[in-house]
Amino acid sequence: MQSIMLEYAKKLDEQDALGMYRDEFYVHPDVIYMDGNSLGLLSKRAEKSVLSLLDSWKQYGIDGWTKGEHPWFYFPETLSEMCAPLVGAKKNEVIITGSTTANLHQLVASFYQPVGKRTKIVADELNFPSDLYAISSQLFLHGFDSKEHMILVKSRDGYTLHEADIINAMTEEVALIVLPSVLYRSGQILDIQMLTEAAHKRNIIIGFDLCHSIGSVPHELNKWGVDFAFWCNYKHVNGGPGATGGIYVNRKHFGGKPGLAGWFGSDKEKQFDLSNQMIPAADAGAYQIGTPHILSSAPLYGSLEMFAEVGIDAIREKSLKLTNYMMMLMEQELADYHFVIANPRESTKRGGHIFLVHEEAARICKALKVQQVIPDFRSPNGIRLAPVALYNSFEDVWRTVQILKKIMKEELYKKYENKRDVIA
Ligand SMILES: *Cc1c(COP(=O)(O)O)cnc(C)c1O
Repeated sequence: MQSIMLEYAKKLDEQDALGMYRDEFYVHPDVIYMDGNSLGLLSKRAEKSVLSLLDSWKQYGIDGWTKGEHPWFYFPETLSEMCAPLVGAKKNEVIITGSTTANLHQLVASFYQPVGKRTKIVADELNFPSDLYAISSQLFLHGFDSKEHMILVKSRDGYTLHEADIINAMTEEVALIVLPSVLYRSGQILDIQMLTEAAHKRNIIIGFDLCHSIGSVPHELNKWGVDFAFWCNYKHVNGGPGATGGIYVNRKHFGGKPGLAGWFGSDKEKQFDLSNQMIPAADAGAYQIGTPHILSSAPLYGSLEMFAEVGIDAIREKSLKLTNYMMMLMEQELADYHFVIANPRESTKRGGHIFLVHEEAARICKALKVQQVIPDFRSPNGIRLAPVALYNSFEDVWRTVQILKKIMKEELYKKYENKRDVIA
């Protein structure tokens, strides 16, 4: 069969219009990196923009706020404009600030306005726990118990959600909905447009966590009328560990009061009047709190430049080809070893990673790492593999599946304990 031969993978790489971007990244020659959905790799351009921002500190000290290649005072807005096409936002609807969880706190503090019977927040039982912790604590600040006021939509199969179940949860008691765009385990894409329409029909505000879709899947947040969104930039956006996150606020909400206010949310012209009365920015900038994390934002400039060059549609196209190829190889090569591909198969329904389930997943991941393939393990039994369009090749995918096969065939995983490490 042609598709199981290395030559075929190499042919796909030759035809790949994005192939040249691999050289833009620090790809270790002996390692196959399949973990770009946890932490994207460093690019040379991101390194360059970090050095440029360090240089403005070196050269200008305090005057770096207004001088240098990227004046710090306007740097969040510069990055926001570059990031807007990744989420389908109008100019000024995005602000690069904070971190995922802190941004969710800001957005719930701003958009959760319980009145009368409408006091509940809908989320789902499969979302990343940090999101649920944040929602619970926001409910607590309003004097509500999350056991009663946080409605978690249940999964029917433990991996995916049904949009119909989410819509069923949209009752008259619901004030706010917070959902992921792509589920972090199964990689399922939720139908953001349909859910937004359903929520708005019932006068409910709806926001999305884009951590696992930004940089990998296109969005049309403005067109779909989504109220707000938030995300991190260290996964598919390759902004580095702890990179500054992002917020989207639909322009129909401009002029609203940020729930958590601080001086960097001020109108920039007025900020340095240092008045005791805050005048918030007229756009998404109002949701900033304190001094921007310039050094944690610095890599984003170089990284987002590449996204602007390539375009998110070309990235998505290659990403789907990579994951398709990976699933096909898995079906051909791993049929004897009891893996279940637990991500949705349809291209409209799966994000940028493959989710393999196996009862020995923890130690299979340990064996993969020893064999120089970097996966990530998700408790209790999931292996995530993310072939990333900008720096992974079809040959990487082919090699990964071959190594998995060898680990299973030779039972190499049995050398390790089937337990997760502290970070997994
Ligand atoms: C990665 C991720 C987070 C991480 O939150 P931080 O505040 O950036 O640590 C939160 N939610 C989801 C869905 C994620 O995938």
